[in-house]
Amino acid sequence: MKTQVDAAVIGGGVTGVSILYHLAKMGMRNSVLIERSELTAGSTWHAAGVIHTVNSDPNIARLQAYTLDLYAEIQAVSGVSCSFHRPGGIYLASTPERLDYLRLERAKARYMGMDADFISMDEVANLHPLINTDEYLGALFEPADGHIDPSGVTNAYAQSAIKLGAEVYRHNPVHDLTQRPDGAWDIHTENGTITAEVVINAAGLWARELGRMVGIELPLLPMEHQYVITEELAEIADFGAEMAVTIDYEGNLYTRQEGNSLLLGTYEDAGKPWAVDTTPLDFGMRLLTPDLDRFVDRLEVAQDRMPVLAEAGIARVVNGPFTFAPDGNPLIGPVPGLPNYWVAAAVMAGFCQAGGVGLCLAQWIIDGEPEMDVYAMDVARFGDFATKDYTYLKSQENYRRRFKITYPNEELPAARPWRTTPSYDALDAQGAVWGASFGLEHALWFAPEGEEQAETPTFRRSNAFPHVAEECRAVREGVGLLEIANFAKYEAAGPGAEAFLDSILANHLPKRGRLALSPVLTPEGRLAADLTVGRLDDERFMLFGSGAMPTITMRLFLQRLTDLGIPGDQVTVTDRSNDLMGWSIAGPDSRQLLGRLTDADVSNHGLRFRDLREMEVGGVPTITARISFTGELGYEIYCTEGHHEALRVAIAAAADGLDLRMFGGRAFLSMRFEKGFGVWNLEFRPDFTPAEAGLGPFVKVDKAADFIGKEAARAELEAGPQRRLVTLVIDVGDPGGDGIADAIHDEPVFHGGECVGFVTSGGYAHYSQASVALAYVPTRLADDPAAADGFEVEILGHLRPARLVAEPLYDPAGERMRG
Ligand SMILES: Cc1cc2nc3c(=O)[nH]c(=O)nc-3n(C[C@H](O)[C@H](O)[C@H](O)COP(=O)(O)OP(=O)(O)OC[C@H]3O[C@@H](n4cnc5c(N)ncnc54)[C@H](O)[C@@H]3O)c2cc1C
Repeated sequence: MKTQVDAAVIGGGVTGVSILYHLAKMGMRNSVLIERSELTAGSTWHAAGVIHTVNSDPNIARLQAYTLDLYAEIQAVSGVSCSFHRPGGIYLASTPERLDYLRLERAKARYMGMDADFISMDEVANLHPLINTDEYLGALFEPADGHIDPSGVTNAYAQSAIKLGAEVYRHNPVHDLTQRPDGAWDIHTENGTITAEVVINAAGLWARELGRMVGIELPLLPMEHQYVITEELAEIADFGAEMAVTIDYEGNLYTRQEGNSLLLGTYEDAGKPWAVDTTPLDFGMRLLTPDLDRFVDRLEVAQDRMPVLAEAGIARVVNGPFTFAPDGNPLIGPVPGLPNYWVAAAVMAGFCQAGGVGLCLAQWIIDGEPEMDVYAMDVARFGDFATKDYTYLKSQENYRRRFKITYPNEELPAARPWRTTPSYDALDAQGAVWGASFGLEHALWFAPEGEEQAETPTFRRSNAFPHVAEECRAVREGVGLLEIANFAKYEAAGPGAEAFLDSILANHLPKRGRLALSPVLTPEGRLAADLTVGRLDDERFMLFGSGAMPTITMRLFLQRLTDLGIPGDQVTVTDRSNDLMGWSIAGPDSRQLLGRLTDADVSNHGLRFRDLREMEVGGVPTITARISFTGELGYEIYCTEGHHEALRVAIAAAADGLDLRMFGGRAFLSMRFEKGFGVWNLEFRPDFTPAEAGLGPFVKVDKAADFIGKEAARAELEAGPQRRLVTLVIDVGDPGGDGIADAIHDEPVFHGGECVGFVTSGGYAHYSQASVALAYVPTRLADDPAAADGFEVEILGHLRPARLVAEPLYDPAGERMRG
């Protein structure tokens, strides 16, 4: 056994071996895998082995497609068979809403270059003669799908890694981990200590226990999961070809052929958590007691869907545990605050995802960043709010909803409300319809008196539509009040703060009392964060950003401090997202309202656009920023949690005669459409460069400081981007009785009949009365005025004409927010 390695992967399930293979393939050959027992001895060995590409998140779908394509490669490298069958996959819809869902998936597949397409019911019957096609309204077929043998795949990965120079140590439990002063980890195993520069927790069912060895609690929960295998069926034996794998969403069933039998699995509503607090150390290649009572209603449905099953006996029941994160996606990446400790856990569909997880993690470890945005899988997308209780409630919700539609305007109910601000009750009494992000409740819109305080989940325009329109109008014509507790806020202070921020932020730092927008870049020059930075005094800065990003951004700050060896007495960086709350007032009357609340000079000269002040507002100490995301004159007024409700009361009391109206996140996002403003995680994310995203002017490659990604950004800015973020105005046409649908996100964009790009977000710009999409399209089209009218966007199966608008629809010169 080696005692000194570059990387040590702990856990020999399908996730761990894939990481080991990718590390070795990318050149980190002095890597080892440590397995407690036999390879596969966690969730892996008893998996059903079904493999799918379709996933609502496009980047996860890409990684699933990569994983499926990898099986031929690892078979060839290792010489070990994966029993790789690719009869294709059928996704079945039995409701109109599910048909819409499949239309969205098919649309996404177009721009991702995947083959999923609708097939007729006759074709369904040809691919799978057991199916009673009368039960369905439509079906999507993906030729890449199929199934594999779990232990074949695991051994193929491991043998491939070994051939490339990596080593695998079986029957060697890890008992403890300690970190050396130089940041390397001593891994104390049954057979001795291994020192590793980098350690990766891929311990699956025991990932929580491995985390606890270093003082972290990973938000994941093991759930029981069952599938059954029927007795042999003559209809399968006689078919003469292999039947496609299937997902029947409304039936809540997945199937594949197993010899001449059929394997059926379900994500039952009464999903059962397993080993809630800790996974027993003596659990290994064992199954749990079958519980057919939980399955019986699905078997009845299955008999309607495949009548031949009425006569088929059950030959075998498999009940085994696997792990779920609160949102069902894996938890991967460097753990914040624990240098060189990485995690790849909660991989709930390992045979669809582990290849992509291994690829991204190896790239991240070796190159410093994965090749695509992995926010949806990043372990740091959660924060302290994701406690054990939260995880318990949310992971179960996710399990039982695995085959249910989550609509784009839908807010899931488990663990709600979880975090609230002191103004929650007051806003609730004013009709707030709530959403949650990063565990915190925030108002989406306000239902007027007499209107139900709820939004109907839909792919189309919802009951919120007229009320959001009214909130937009109120802001544009008077003054609106928005709670902004859910924005992320950070403070950087100390004698070294200026130099430190200059080494991270791509823009120049603002002068005292001023604000500046600044992207943060990845080493390859892509977008890592999008922050507004303000200087309070020479050594004190505030930074504001996306509410989804506190843990990820803090990880970035802390990593930079470590990389530059900056001591704590030089710079402190604090996440103030929880303790700073506040309100935004926006609209032409907002200056008048602010003036009534403070003695400070708030004239256009006293408090200029992009000024930042510490000042009393409504008797409350605040940090007030004159900044606007709505495109109107507006202010963001931050205060501590203890003052938050008092400030709201003061603002409301001062608004006499001004028709102050509450507005929520939906109006906030609608107004940015008519300004062409992007948001983090949609238009701005690590998939794009600043030049592509229109943030080039905020990247100063000529500044003296060496910020992350500077050289890559210089090269890209000089060359010019190949694609650009643009605003499209869509003619959404006649709804035909179904209700009007705007673009949401991830719709393909066509020009001249060719798929040329995709939508990052879409919706209705209420004040301008236009259906708008922000989209990335080739620069040659974006820059060609003659091309502006020739776009089309596919919305729920319809190609809708779209026009590229070169200027914002509302106040193109930006006079209102500056005036
Ligand atoms: C019934 C069932 C059916 C499924 N069907 C499918 C399917 O059809 N398709 C699909 O994609 N997925 C399926 N899955 C999910 C799939 O099994 C998991 O996603 C996958 O196995 C997770 O692999 P893993 O490597 O992350 O974790 P695990 O398989 O749990 O591996 C973790 C490994 O770490 C080792 N380990 C733990 N602690 C230590 C320690 N202290 N020291 C050393 N080693 C340690 C363990 O022994 C184990 O080998 C199914 C799961 C179940 C339960």
